[in-house]
Amino acid sequence: MDNTAEMPKPPETALITGNAQITGNAQITGNTKMTEAAKMTEAAKIAEAAKIAETAKINLLDLSCDELKLFLSNYGQKNFRTRQITEWLYKDINDIDEMTNIPKELRERLKEVSRIRTFKLMQKYISKDGTVKYLFGLDDKNIIESVLMEYKYGLALCVSTQVGCKMGCKFCASSGLGFIRNLTSGEIMEQILAVQSDCKNRIGNIVLMGIGEPFDNYENVIKFIKQVNIAEGLNISLRKITVSTCGLVPGILKLANEGLPVNLSLSLHAPTDEKRSALMPINKVYSIDKIIEACKIYTEKTGRRITFEYAMLGGFNDSEKDAMLLVKKIKGMLCHVNLIPANTIDGFEFNASTRENMEKFKEILETNGITATIRRELGTDINAACGQLRRKVIEQKTEM
Ligand code: SF4
Repeated sequence: MDNTAEMPKPPETALITGNAQITGNAQITGNTKMTEAAKMTEAAKIAEAAKIAETAKINLLDLSCDELKLFLSNYGQKNFRTRQITEWLYKDINDIDEMTNIPKELRERLKEVSRIRTFKLMQKYISKDGTVKYLFGLDDKNIIESVLMEYKYGLALCVSTQVGCKMGCKFCASSGLGFIRNLTSGEIMEQILAVQSDCKNRIGNIVLMGIGEPFDNYENVIKFIKQVNIAEGLNISLRKITVSTCGLVPGILKLANEGLPVNLSLSLHAPTDEKRSALMPINKVYSIDKIIEACKIYTEKTGRRITFEYAMLGGFNDSEKDAMLLVKKIKGMLCHVNLIPANTIDGFEFNASTRENMEKFKEILETNGITATIRRELGTDINAACGQLRRKVIEQKTEM
């Protein structure tokens, strides 16, 4: 992809609006005849205009290294400045002014047209098991979630890639709220920076398994993966990044050819097309066989093992017969199966499987040479499953 071709231009209009807001402020201060209420209304309008001007600025986190280089060359800056600014972008700072080795004049010019942080931490929930769920407010007042999990091998962050989702999976709290928009690569990245800033710890593992279908936002997701891997930035190894999909076959095949050997996780959740289509409408477009074929190609091209996610839904997909049907589909593949004790979701008809059923299911897979793990149930007391908390907050707001 020629990144330079998509280089955003500095938003001159933002600059003009920003200046206008200063004039507006001066008018308010000078007008002694205004009532207090009128002043308040006027001040609110100016504050809103200021916010609009702010959101029109370029988010430097949205730029790839090549794009940032081109952007800075507009200001006559040499390559070493790109490296310096790149390093700052991924540090725990909130403002361009904190880039202390950048000349003040350049910082002032950058502040007029760009910014580096856009999120507002709205809520944070800490589970008894240490899982932390973050709710972030975006510029356009939309809300997304990120979930921080602690494993033996370190911290992992589950990030969202879209506001809402089009895929309509029946067990997912995000699907009921519909799709609003894609996240930019910078917004995917900012989830990591915001959580690191809060927990004061390095996050070494990223899972693209939050709200949204990553392959439905393909270009921004790829841009994010390339950027999160750069040495001057967060330097997260590609092997520590997992992309999770509900089974968009063209996305799997495209990723296989990107030369980015990230882990692929496939939300399978059922062993037959009939059952899977009842859970996941996308299965009517891409059947299990088509998905398995694409996963085999992915493994061949990248050498990476596929992880099949399988939510255990009591009485629906957790019988011994289901386990045998699954064996038939995936036997011989370089793969692993994660059996997930499903979180029950208000308003949906499925319940979690029993421990006994899960153990039996696992045993059948392993007897047939397929490695499997029954996952720990993380964060159930804080609605940590995909989109649950966002859904709750939005519903509460609607009820108010
Ligand atoms: S499970 Fe994932 S793909 Fe399915 S609706 Fe939820 S967010 Fe979308």
